[in-house]
Amino acid sequence: MHIHEYQAKSLFRKFNIQTPEAVLIDSVSQAGDACASLGDGVWVVKAQVHAGGRGKGGGVILCRSIEAVENACTALLGSNLVTPQTDTKGLPINQLLIEGGQNIERELYLGLLVDRQTQKITILASTEGGMDIEKVAAETPDKIIKFGVDPLGVLTENNCASIASKLGLKGNLATQFNTTLLALYEIFTTKDVSLIEINPLITTPENQLLALDGKIDFDDNALYRHEDIIELRDVSQEDEKENEASEYQLNYISLDGTIGCMVNGAGLAMATMDLIEHHGGSPANFLDVGGGTTAERVAKAFELIQSEDNVKGVLVNIFGGIVRCDLIAEGILQAIEKVGLTLPIMVRLEGTNAKQGLALLDQSEFDIATEADLTQAAIKIVELSA
Ligand code: ADP
Ligand code: MG
Repeated sequence: MHIHEYQAKSLFRKFNIQTPEAVLIDSVSQAGDACASLGDGVWVVKAQVHAGGRGKGGGVILCRSIEAVENACTALLGSNLVTPQTDTKGLPINQLLIEGGQNIERELYLGLLVDRQTQKITILASTEGGMDIEKVAAETPDKIIKFGVDPLGVLTENNCASIASKLGLKGNLATQFNTTLLALYEIFTTKDVSLIEINPLITTPENQLLALDGKIDFDDNALYRHEDIIELRDVSQEDEKENEASEYQLNYISLDGTIGCMVNGAGLAMATMDLIEHHGGSPANFLDVGGGTTAERVAKAFELIQSEDNVKGVLVNIFGGIVRCDLIAEGILQAIEKVGLTLPIMVRLEGTNAKQGLALLDQSEFDIATEADLTQAAIKIVELSA
């Protein structure tokens, strides 16, 4: 689960990580008061969306007058923000953080994640923080400091001091860095975080270390034990169809392509998408209908697939292991009737009673193409959807 920058910073403050003064607003009429409470000078208007790269997408605006702040708020509120990390539709801006503009001396990067290769919580830090950190990581990886925390041990003051020194932080700044890093580690481990990031972590001419941005992703599987975190969920930032699907225990992710996919099993779904790509098509979604598929869930899956504007054809790929293919075929027929599916459809069935299942589909009143071979099915649905 993702949360907003303002929510991450509020958690930071609870753990003694320093952040600039800021006020959250959701209407332009609140902008003047927000600026007044922050004091004179420079303000930064920041779009609250579940994506990074907001600066590059025009979602972080530096303003030198209240009028400029109000103009920025008017432009942003109610619009969608497209950033290098969103799709072309972008994400809705319903809230803005008005923050005191800071005097930036240095922009550092500090993050923690689980490194799957070393199986350790790993600290990433860099002197080259800011909006181009992805480029730094790709082009000059030696500028990223990596430290894996011993899973049986703890993060020590010495570990922090060594990273601070590599970042060129001394004296008071090094002390503040230790506090910040230990706090990030504490949030990470106590709140079941999968990624936590401060970019940029700035130093000011007054020798202050401040978190100017905050990103936290939580492990969905552990959310049940963090009621305080569940409350931070903002469904306006999530894909409506994906949420609807999860209510039916369908694992659905919409994509940009034209071929809707309905598959049982996540691995088979991935392989099916690969085959579609391999034969010149592009999948419109990832969809795992799960093992114990019912006619109702198949119908819901068709409904979801058909509701996406870009879909031109549907490939159903079911391996009957525990489920019988003839029952699946009946489910598909019922679902097509219920949903009124009008798109070209290709069904590939394999496994228990596959022959009977394919025969049922072939004999039906609907125009359903069938295949026992997955490669052939992929080739044909690409043709049918062209
Ligand atoms: P994103 O990472 O989504 O682009 P950030 O919050 O990191 O958004 O903001 C982008 C850049 O804007 C920062 O790297 C920093 O240079 C500048 N910035 C952000 N907040 C402030 C602030 N309060 N004062 C001054 N500059 C800021
Ligand atoms: Mg940032």
